[in-house]
Amino acid sequence: MASIGFIGLGNMGAPMMRNLIKAGHKVAAFDLSEAALAAAAEAGATACTKATDAARGAEVVVSMLPAGAHVKSVMLGEGGLFAAASKGTLFIDSSTIDVATARLLSDEASRAGHALIDAPVSGGVGGAEAGTLTFMVGGADDSFARAEPILAVMGKTIVHAGGPGNGQAAKICNNMLLGISMIGTCEAFALAEKLGLDAQKLFDISSKSSGQNWSMTSYCPVPGPVPASPANRDYKAGFAAAMMLKDLKLAVEAAQTAGASIPLGAEAAQLYAMMAGMGQGGLDFSGIIHMLRGKA
Ligand code: NAD
Repeated sequence: MASIGFIGLGNMGAPMMRNLIKAGHKVAAFDLSEAALAAAAEAGATACTKATDAARGAEVVVSMLPAGAHVKSVMLGEGGLFAAASKGTLFIDSSTIDVATARLLSDEASRAGHALIDAPVSGGVGGAEAGTLTFMVGGADDSFARAEPILAVMGKTIVHAGGPGNGQAAKICNNMLLGISMIGTCEAFALAEKLGLDAQKLFDISSKSSGQNWSMTSYCPVPGPVPASPANRDYKAGFAAAMMLKDLKLAVEAAQTAGASIPLGAEAAQLYAMMAGMGQGGLDFSGIIHMLRGKA
């Protein structure tokens, strides 16, 4: 069993950390939130008052933080974790961040004598609780091999996507596709309503036809056809529209840097920015159907 430092105990990090403890790992945890720290101690972690205390002496450090700026501020500099950790520590950053920062962090970790993989996840809070997340991993082969048994405790599907940053690249591409497909699915249901076509009938037909997609069959944006979807609980997130907007902005930024054309991804980002601007960023991202109906 490994000694693990865990930084960032939010909606995702807390259940991921609990699964590591349940599997018998020794976890030292840190978060800026005192409530999150108290809950971690309750779950059996050593609650640390500084991030560096959680990393010192750990064989593996997992981070689950909001964005690239947070991860950089925690890892880099004299007071950062790369300076505090024992040489040879394996860093697993599971936050969703930009590709350029992920690659910079990998370089800086190597320079400090450590290894770092980017290992963002898909599967949401439910997947984090159940230990069924999908991990998309970027990093060297030997680092991936070291990380795999730890990731297997928190996830069910673990894919090595290539070198440093490729895990984030996979995450950004996947979520751009998800944002676009959700808007398309919402448009189809909104149009069906105007045409007098029952939502369940459209679902029965399209879920077996060429329009079939995950946003429809697993996360249907209208109440009824998929009982577990957020549409059945007033669009309580789930996966918040603000989070989708964050990921779409990462896609737009990455496309600009790489010189890729993503007209639908850019439009999806604008529509989710509009939804957030209307004060609905906390709603599930499938709740964008309200805004699309309202624009008619
Ligand atoms: P969250 O806001 O619930 O948790 C982030 C935690 O980080 C908070 O507890 C916060 O106090 C802590 N934090 C911030 N700065 C810190 C610092 N400097 N040191 C220590 N702790 C710090 O967010 P979340 O939903 O857990 O998401 C975490 C990451 O996972 C994000 O990058 C998000 O995009 C990604 N993600 C989220 C979901 C989801 O469904 N929530 C799904 C897939 C990926």
